[in-house]
Amino acid sequence: MQDPRRRVPRTDALLADPRLARSIDRLGRDRVKASIVAAQDRCRRGELAPESVVDAALDALPASGTSMRRVINATGVIVHTNLGRAPLSHAAREAVAVAAGATDVEMDLESARRGPRGRAAMDALRAAVPEAGDVHVVNNGAAALVLAARALAADGEIVVARGEMVEIGDGFRIPELLESVGVRLREVGTTNRVRREDYASAVNDRTGFVLKVHPSNFRVEGFTSSVAVSALTGLGVPVVMDIGSGLLAPHPRLPEEPDAASTLRAGADLVTASGDKLLGGPQCGLLLGDAALVHRLRRHPMARAVRVDKLTLAALEATLCGPPTPVAQALARRPEELRQRAETLAARLREQVPGCDVDVRKSAGRVGGGGAPGVPLPSWTLTVPPQYARALRLGEPPVVGRVHDDRLELDLLTVPEADDEALAQAVVRVVAAG
Ligand SMILES: *Cc1c(COP(=O)(O)O)cnc(C)c1O
Repeated sequence: MQDPRRRVPRTDALLADPRLARSIDRLGRDRVKASIVAAQDRCRRGELAPESVVDAALDALPASGTSMRRVINATGVIVHTNLGRAPLSHAAREAVAVAAGATDVEMDLESARRGPRGRAAMDALRAAVPEAGDVHVVNNGAAALVLAARALAADGEIVVARGEMVEIGDGFRIPELLESVGVRLREVGTTNRVRREDYASAVNDRTGFVLKVHPSNFRVEGFTSSVAVSALTGLGVPVVMDIGSGLLAPHPRLPEEPDAASTLRAGADLVTASGDKLLGGPQCGLLLGDAALVHRLRRHPMARAVRVDKLTLAALEATLCGPPTPVAQALARRPEELRQRAETLAARLREQVPGCDVDVRKSAGRVGGGGAPGVPLPSWTLTVPPQYARALRLGEPPVVGRVHDDRLELDLLTVPEADDEALAQAVVRVVAAG
């Protein structure tokens, strides 16, 4: 028998193969070459026929230049931090693709001079919240807070209620974040209660502002009191509120969740928020409020270090002006509609994999780390035995559900209807494989 090493296709011949050459255009030479070398190795070891080397090299290539995968979020958690928070609308995705090349993000094409960066996105944000005298956008919610702290309270103090010194996730704490830029926090009240007098007696000539933070990921119940924004005006210092979730106006399903417009109307001088939670946009931090304060933030040296990129500005504009976002759509889904979809999926699974263990259950999704803690959102799930969870996560597309009551629940609250077909195929594949 011929030495298999002699029959391994040569690298230059493989690189010239039209299908692999097209992949080089798409993914770059290094990536394709690495895949070719791996396939040649398998051929050399006798695991692969020489005729199959091209196919194997193609199969091992990623679908795109990023190794991040599109995932079906069937967790029922609308703003899922580990799944990238808010999924962008189609309008926002298209906008990102347009802005990705050379673009007039900071040029006035009429005069060929430098123009205000991201003007259209800022105009859209101003139009969405007319209560704001001016607006500014930075990298994320944390950056918005840090910029406000640095620009308005450097070498001074921020007065904040002890019960609002919160951790926002993964070990990041708002007090430590603020102290990291050199401001001091003056805590007032106790864990569960604080009064206006506590704030009033803490304010002095070193106070930069009074900060209110919305506890967006937990709830305090029982003997509690906090002070509304409206009661904190008139202390002689600005009132800044971190509303967290980025709702611009009240949402009927989330009555407890603060929004930018109402918070400004109640008397806040500045509101900070994230763009990729309930607003449903790209990761960014919004600053809205008094025009003179916003001007100070925009001109502060640190503003440059937390500046947003053109892709974000494009996506934000399209989110604000475009059709309902996936987050808004999820919040609008009615339980009856979800039940119908779950029944249809279950019927299909029973038909294609006779005797399989599947059922439809009532459940509750939630907003997630992005806001509205403790608010259940009625939903329906397709459930299968939990041992399928791993295969579903590793399938194409990956499907992430949640294990509850010894079942893997696939919650349709967070699955766009357009993904039902892909979800059905993924589940059929995994369940049929056993
Ligand atoms: C999420 C959140 C933040 C942090 O915002 P990022 O956009 O994640 O940086 C800050 N404060 C509150 C109240 C939040 O909910």
